[in-house]
Amino acid sequence: MSPIRVAIVGAGPTGLTLARLLLNKPNLEVTVFESEKSRNIRPQGGTLDLHPDTGLAALKEAGLWDEFLKNVRYDGEAITVCDKRLHKFLRVSGTEEGSSRGRPEIDRKALREMLLDSLPAEIIIWGCHLREIDQGHNLIFDHGIESGFDLVVGADGAWSKIRKLLSDQKPIYSGLGGYMMNIPNAKETAPECYELTNRGSMFSFSDGRSICSQQIGDGSLYLLCISQVSEDWREKLPHDTHDAEAVKASLKTVFSDWHPGLQQLIESAQDPVPHSLYMLPVGWSWENRSSVTLIGDAAHLMTPFAGEGVNLGMQDAAMLSRAILKATNSPDPATQLAVEVKAFEADLFVRAERTAILTKDMMNYMMFTDGSPRTIVDKFILRMLTFHDKTLLDYLRYPLLAALLKSYFFLHNLWYQ
Ligand SMILES: Cc1cc2nc3c(=O)[nH]c(=O)nc-3n(C[C@H](O)[C@H](O)[C@H](O)COP(=O)(O)OP(=O)(O)OC[C@H]3O[C@@H](n4cnc5c(N)ncnc54)[C@H](O)[C@@H]3O)c2cc1C
Repeated sequence: MSPIRVAIVGAGPTGLTLARLLLNKPNLEVTVFESEKSRNIRPQGGTLDLHPDTGLAALKEAGLWDEFLKNVRYDGEAITVCDKRLHKFLRVSGTEEGSSRGRPEIDRKALREMLLDSLPAEIIIWGCHLREIDQGHNLIFDHGIESGFDLVVGADGAWSKIRKLLSDQKPIYSGLGGYMMNIPNAKETAPECYELTNRGSMFSFSDGRSICSQQIGDGSLYLLCISQVSEDWREKLPHDTHDAEAVKASLKTVFSDWHPGLQQLIESAQDPVPHSLYMLPVGWSWENRSSVTLIGDAAHLMTPFAGEGVNLGMQDAAMLSRAILKATNSPDPATQLAVEVKAFEADLFVRAERTAILTKDMMNYMMFTDGSPRTIVDKFILRMLTFHDKTLLDYLRYPLLAALLKSYFFLHNLWYQ
């Protein structure tokens, strides 16, 4: 029997997790095609908190738990939520291994390195930019055509070329854009910013604007400054979006009425990278097409406000790997593969919709609600807690928790006008 051939397009966290889960399995041949020329071609950005039921479960299933523990940062569980006056509504401290709240942080770079190191080099073909997939499922790359796959998996992120075969749906603009920046060696170069970030994550938001900072394992801080802007905001700028001094000057105007401690983050930062936030519509799905499917951002791009994108994507990888392995272990793998992939997609649509609703709610609470976070912080915490612990939704505990949070923040807001 000839092996089932799987092509994964995209070596991001979800594509690599899938490749790892399918590694060394009988009757299976896996190739990952990645457009970047090599693993170190671009900085990987911030940090990710992986969740027990999704991202962490996928890593365990992939046999990478011990490796993960070498890279994990429990102090990264510290969270501060504040407004533009630096008034703090939530300040949770970091943890240690034994006291973890189950959501430790890992640098995006460390996660990718760990996944890449877990795969034989020959599985990943770098420098393969996919232009399109045609109706016959041939992969048309800049370098030539690759074909003959039993399954093509689009793990090619927000602007997926594989998605274009399945649907005309394009990502929609969220209304938010700005810059990612970094502060190297923050403990020495920007001690106030380091203190404020508390070795974890600091989220400040007010009036449809937000500054977030996150500790990275190499000692730098990762910064995201966003505000409500039109989709063509970059074209309207009088300066180059990579000119750090011009970008900082314009950000200081946008955040001119913010607390000096928050403005200091902008002042200390460098290397701006412009970024606009896009998402797929909540509940978006595609018509099943045998031999082609999507995982990760390609399937359910969302904004980062619930911190779920990578978690959901890694869960997709785990689910799809099970579907593929079920098929390869069956008497008629090729026929069974179509059945299993269809069932995988039906489950993905349900999981993705639930998470997309949460993400959109969180974005609306934080960025599009008058008086946020003061007016909304109780709802925001309640929504997050009940998403992750469904037992809180029962008829007794839910109203109790809601009342508790409402009363606490009512008094809090009365006290701290
Ligand atoms: C600012 C920000 C903060 C975030 N924070 C969090 C968080 O805290 N927690 C969380 O869970 N999620 C977070 N996310 C979301 C998370 O980053 C994504 O959900 C995750 O990276 C998706 O992984 P992926 O592998 O599906 O796609 P990607 O990470 O986008 O990887 C896609 C890969 O495909 C390659 N590729 C693209 N096009 C082609 C092509 N045509 N041909 C070949 N290769 C191609 C790319 O080079 C890339 O390597 C955040 C996102 C942003 C923007």
